[in-house]
Amino acid sequence: MSPPDWETGAIVLDCRDHGESDRIVTFFCLETGRLSGIAKGANKSKRRFVNKLELFSSLQLTYSLPRQGGLAFIAAAELHSSFLNLRKEVDLYNAATVIREFVLIGTSEKERDDRVFEILHWALHALDKKHPRLTVVILFLMRFFDYIGYRPDLLHCHHCGQSVVTQRRASFNYAAGGLVCEACSGHGFQTTVPLSLGTIKLLANAQNQPLERLHRLQFSTRAQDESLNMLHRYGRQLFQRDIHSWESLQGRRKKEEVGIQDSAV
Ligand SMILES: [Zn+2]
Repeated sequence: MSPPDWETGAIVLDCRDHGESDRIVTFFCLETGRLSGIAKGANKSKRRFVNKLELFSSLQLTYSLPRQGGLAFIAAAELHSSFLNLRKEVDLYNAATVIREFVLIGTSEKERDDRVFEILHWALHALDKKHPRLTVVILFLMRFFDYIGYRPDLLHCHHCGQSVVTQRRASFNYAAGGLVCEACSGHGFQTTVPLSLGTIKLLANAQNQPLERLHRLQFSTRAQDESLNMLHRYGRQLFQRDIHSWESLQGRRKKEEVGIQDSAV
């Protein structure tokens, strides 16, 4: 008896050729979480999979799981959206690649999380629609860290417990995942980055806004800089490794921003 087929919404996070005709693909699925599978004959039978098993594509996937574990068998894929702009424009591609890297390193095989699927889909859709890409990365990461169990505390100083709302400035201790108030900043924390109160407020909003209103949050260049610096260091600290794609995100940014006027946070 052959194993039963399963169906799920899925987003392609990685794909590579295997042998002459097969393709190995890693997805993040609505029903299954992260899943790796093999599409037998994908490079021969163009009709079944043509233009579908491509990076960042959103699909309806039909697959079966082998009894012994290992790679799923991909039976069919129906394209919802190819998010074509992400593969055509290098800046969008780089931003989507940072998001992809975090999902690959921050999730476990076959652990379902609807919220991760939804924020991933939201972020790729927003990039494809050409929303400001660095803001999309920031918003994605704020939600993603929350969903995988590492929500940054942006209300209180993690050292003394005081609210930071009334203070002039604060910093974020990326080793502790929380803020350090002005009064505690003299305690010699070595792992802090500065955050203005405007940026803290924006980031707290990013944690709490309903998904359909997330795109309304606007970050100035300064707020982007502070947020990206904090999120990059926090991510490296959490996963104890470099985020390889981060450099491409930042490298391009330096060139773009020559001459861009900063606005108030
Ligand atoms: Zn404090």
